[in-house]
Amino acid sequence: MNVQIPRGDMTPSLETALRRSVPRIYGIDNWGVGYFGVNSRGHLVVKPDRGEREIDLLEVVQELEKRGMQSPLLLRFPQILDQQVANLKGAFDRAIQEFDYPKTYQGVYPMKVNPRREVVERLVTAGRPHKLGLEVGSKPELYLALTQEPHPDSLLICNGFKDDEFMEMAFWAHQLGRRVVIVLEQVKEVYSYMRAAERNEERPLLGMRGKLYTRGSGKWEDSGGETSKFGLSTIEMLECIRLLREEGYEDNLAMLHFHIGSQITDIRKIKAAVREASRVYAKMKSLGVPIQFLNVGGGLGIDYDGSGSSSDSSVNYTAQEFANDVVYTVGDICRNEEVEPPILVSESGRALSVYHSILILSAESRFDPNLEARYEFDPKKKSPALAEMHDILEEINVKNYREYYHDALQRRDELFSLFDLGYLGLAERAQAELLFQEVCEKALHFAMLTKNRSEDFVLLAKALRKKYVSNFSVFQSLPDSWTIGQLFPILPIHRLDEPPTEYGILADLSCDSDGKVDSFVDIKTIKDFVELHAVLPGEPYYLAICMVGAYQEVMGSFHNLFGRVNEAQLLVDDDGKVRIEGLHAGHRIRDVVHLVGYDADQLRSRLQARIEAQVEAGELLREDADLILSGVDKCAARSTYLRDHRNIPQEEEPQNP
Ligand SMILES: *Cc1c(COP(=O)(O)O)cnc(C)c1O
Repeated sequence: MNVQIPRGDMTPSLETALRRSVPRIYGIDNWGVGYFGVNSRGHLVVKPDRGEREIDLLEVVQELEKRGMQSPLLLRFPQILDQQVANLKGAFDRAIQEFDYPKTYQGVYPMKVNPRREVVERLVTAGRPHKLGLEVGSKPELYLALTQEPHPDSLLICNGFKDDEFMEMAFWAHQLGRRVVIVLEQVKEVYSYMRAAERNEERPLLGMRGKLYTRGSGKWEDSGGETSKFGLSTIEMLECIRLLREEGYEDNLAMLHFHIGSQITDIRKIKAAVREASRVYAKMKSLGVPIQFLNVGGGLGIDYDGSGSSSDSSVNYTAQEFANDVVYTVGDICRNEEVEPPILVSESGRALSVYHSILILSAESRFDPNLEARYEFDPKKKSPALAEMHDILEEINVKNYREYYHDALQRRDELFSLFDLGYLGLAERAQAELLFQEVCEKALHFAMLTKNRSEDFVLLAKALRKKYVSNFSVFQSLPDSWTIGQLFPILPIHRLDEPPTEYGILADLSCDSDGKVDSFVDIKTIKDFVELHAVLPGEPYYLAICMVGAYQEVMGSFHNLFGRVNEAQLLVDDDGKVRIEGLHAGHRIRDVVHLVGYDADQLRSRLQARIEAQVEAGELLREDADLILSGVDKCAARSTYLRDHRNIPQEEEPQNP
């Protein structure tokens, strides 16, 4: 779309100002919370400690390509995990000090948010000084948590629906010296606990997940409220207490837990939920139940679009305000009810992991100016049918664009009727399409100049967005964009000193019309395009999808058999030197066929047998047979994504051991 300011008309100072304003288009300072910036070369940088030290993403991508690791790439920044753990603990510590709260705060990391080893183990290490524990909601998560070594005083919270086996595992974890809290989700889990307690001398602590009247806000509103799938109603909580009291297990009841959903967008919902939960805590305490911990669950939201609003991809509060509200409200109600305040626990997962990873993809534009030039309409070779469309193109201007655009629509229909009846050839049809396209672009240009917001031109702007075919799968790497319309910041990692000229959307590689990204973050609204550059011939164009560290990885699926992407971890040393670690090749074709029940070796034998039979029957030459077989072997050992043949230095890509 030609909305570019003609460069020749610019004074040097205007040009500089324009270049400087490019990062603002993407709102980096709004959503980046200090972790992102643009350097003097116009490259996106990550600042893992929000200080001076930075990592140039283009340099990293080029270095990884030299080592045979192509995009799509998932880049992890473990130091951001360290920062986020310290930030959250710091926020609670400050609030505790400010409001003179007499007890402490201890977080747990919910494994479901991102159970990747690199993430969990880094968080456990970074969390040791802060007594960060783990929260699990299934047997496999508990199995993983069992093998971690967090601070001995940290909590291991078992949520979710449990069977006897889950319960038994939790008892073992307790015997192994972990500070386990089994949170009852249903009354029948009390019986399961008591059965395990009969077999074991040592008994872990218990908690109860309560159903609150208060609901969350945003996409997960249904996780809370009376109709929620989770938690115990008031009657059920009383029944649990009665049963435990009768059998002499009441002293183990140590935690009250609630969780009203993830990404709570409105601070008022958090306040209301904490107020209600504090009241439940205080009343229970008054009944003589020895609760020591109040666990406020997850829900601490993230400002993905930088708008600081209560819209779905944003939040109208900071982590500090969240901590302040929890600490103040619990303290206030406990004073009011004259009960001893609890140790505070939160299960903030999204907030700890979301910033730490970025997905890098290479994009290609479907739009090729050279191709269009070749088939340009030549007015000298008179085609009377096209003359009128050509005249419209020549004469359309800022005063008449509306009328001329409508004329063009009519002409186009007429031209297609002519084609239908056999009066136009393919070359003329191509020219008609091209001329019409140019009229549309001009009309839109004028509509934008005159700030025309009429339906026609809004639709036209949408229709003229350029498709950037991007080397990734939404289903594998960005599932929340597909399922719940979650927005993520998306921007190029280079050319950020060059004003973008195109309005783009991303199309992924999958053969699924849902495999696209066409909603983008903006401070005021949701944009249906992202400003991108024209892709230069022979040069890669890399985009970053930021803030993909929470939920996206583990929920990704294998639609079209696109597999996990290549990964690397990036650290920056004290002297500013960037270290690339933890290279991990994504799924190869051999791996994904295995995921759907095939055995790659067996497939190969079958193929070989078939080829041999063809050679024997004289249908295939021996040399060709060998070429095909070795070719197929090579492909099967490679990435499931498109291969960029420009920059593969060595024949073989790195393999996982
Ligand atoms: C998912 C979940 C969390 C994590 O919530 P975030 O909003 O990501 O912090 C915490 N607790 C429970 C019980 C959950 O199910």
